Amino acid sequence: MDKLEALRRYFGYEAFRPGQEGVVDALCSGRDALCVMPTGAGKSLCYQIPALLLHGVTLVVSPLISLMKDQVAALNEAGVRAAYLNSSLTPGQYRRALDNAAQGMYKIIYVAPERLETPEFHMNCARMEIPLVAVDEAHCVSQWGQDFRPSYLRIREFIAGLPVRPAVGAFTATATEQVREDIGKLLELRTPYCITTGFDRPNLRFEVRAPKDKNQELLGLMQRFRNRCGIVYCATRKGVEEVCDVLNVHGYSATRYHAGLADEERRKNQDDFLYDRATVMVATNAFGMGIDKSNVGFVIHYNMPKNLEGYYQEAGRAGRDGSPADCILLYARQDVRTNQFLIDHEADNPELSAEQADAVRENQRRALRSMTDYCTTSECLRATILQYFGEKACSACGNCSNCEGEFDEVDVTREAHSILQCVSELRQRFGKTVVLDVLRGGKGERIRRLGLDKTGCYGTLCGAEEAKLRAVLDELLRTGVLATDDGEYPVLRLGKNAAAVLYENARVTMKVKRWQAKHQEEKLPNMLEKRRSTAQVPEDDPLLAALKALRRRLADAKHQPAFVVFTDATLRDMCAKKPMTKQEMLLVSGVGERKLAQYGKVFLEEIKKFC
Ligand code: ADP
Ligand code: MG
Ligand code: ZN
Repeated sequence: MDKLEALRRYFGYEAFRPGQEGVVDALCSGRDALCVMPTGAGKSLCYQIPALLLHGVTLVVSPLISLMKDQVAALNEAGVRAAYLNSSLTPGQYRRALDNAAQGMYKIIYVAPERLETPEFHMNCARMEIPLVAVDEAHCVSQWGQDFRPSYLRIREFIAGLPVRPAVGAFTATATEQVREDIGKLLELRTPYCITTGFDRPNLRFEVRAPKDKNQELLGLMQRFRNRCGIVYCATRKGVEEVCDVLNVHGYSATRYHAGLADEERRKNQDDFLYDRATVMVATNAFGMGIDKSNVGFVIHYNMPKNLEGYYQEAGRAGRDGSPADCILLYARQDVRTNQFLIDHEADNPELSAEQADAVRENQRRALRSMTDYCTTSECLRATILQYFGEKACSACGNCSNCEGEFDEVDVTREAHSILQCVSELRQRFGKTVVLDVLRGGKGERIRRLGLDKTGCYGTLCGAEEAKLRAVLDELLRTGVLATDDGEYPVLRLGKNAAAVLYENARVTMKVKRWQAKHQEEKLPNMLEKRRSTAQVPEDDPLLAALKALRRRLADAKHQPAFVVFTDATLRDMCAKKPMTKQEMLLVSGVGERKLAQYGKVFLEEIKKFC
């Protein structure tokens, strides 16, 4: 069996996605690999295919106990012998699984990092042939990442203790240079094959909104997305509770997830969402790592996250099966302040020196600024993200709210001038709020106490709307006409491009959104058509509904989540191709031999009923 045959037979896919094949080749030839691909790109296949081709059993280290079960179920469904070892097994089950493993029953074993340290596990491993160790979510090894797990540091020792050193594959969606370096070092990768694939996810549509009333806005969105399931991320536990209540009161089946809930409830809620018993998950960022529910149709951020890495990772949980999906961020200026506060008051990681802790905070402030720029820019949102990750991008993707929106170019030269003069008259010692207050002729106690009402620029823009001035200010910051530092109380300074405006009469213009496309449904399928033919199948296609219902029944009978049977993308492809024979069924993306044997007949019958 070769790699393409394995891809077809077990997973039902015709071709590798970008980047996958190189990793498969490297690992199969015994070479280490470091693979950085965005969420949903298909990292799992990069070690699952080698596991099938190599002699012996592949170990997959994964941090998420709760998800191993589903991953293993999905593999078993596909005809791959797999098992998991973690603390959710009883001692009896655990020993049986280990015995089976020692006898070569499995091709893939998922294991929690803590297990690697137990002598029993170690002894058994010494008896097994292990050609490959795959480390999923490998960024957990780095203290610089957001999900540092000390137990990941032991992986190195574990590997070193094996009789024969296996190939080691490290997989992550986090791309920063520092984390990548740490992974190579702390896992002791040997001249690894390194690949970072494009971070673009063309099927995701990005949108930023700055609503007056977030709850109202959210309910409007839910109305629009009523046929899909999705995730709403909130910054705090309290936020999660409130938003979840609001949704439930309005008749949506929402569940919640945050670190303050008991383990048991967390697990139950997560399962409710995975098994489609609840359509909306309201959660803090504690939810989602390793979640591979493939049919998440939208991810809404109720609050702005603290950096774009986090945002892209969370938003990326939408549309993993390649179907069109929406990623919407509800922005409010308060979100910036909240994040600033968190950065300044977060307890330091005790494993870092004071100097390192300062550097970390500095990085966090810079990252927060980029996140804020994303929310206020009028440039293409996708391009903004890709540039942040160091990728070249075309300037307009046509699939984000900024590309779709219509903008009026407004001349704001007068406002810009006044702002710059005010900043320099105040000797670059004050922040945004004071500067705006002075310009608008504010009567606050502080203004008077500091004598700012005596300055020349006091009240020069009185009557101007505060929100508009703020927008101008943000634009000046974004374009380097103004600058600010990253301290706790950021003051405004003249930026490197200030002179052009102050002394060279450069015109300052700003794009202001005129019309926000609220209903993109009509436009979107056309646009995505070129990329993916199955996107044409409408959400309310009766055949699709029938196939989903059939899948539901099959999955329920096996007590498994629906996507273990077929993903939404596969069902959609079935609707598009309408196969009539088993041969034709095999042409549907996501239908392999094993799935055909299991489900081909019933799905064919269902399709025939419709044609
Ligand atoms: P991640 O990189 O986030 O770990 P996964 O491995 O969970 O992504 O894969 C995401 C989805 O992409 C899964 O539904 C998987 O079956 C699908 N997928 C992976 N590789 C391919 C491929 N070559 N062709 C079609 N679909 C694929
Ligand atoms: Mg993964
Ligand atoms: Zn765009």
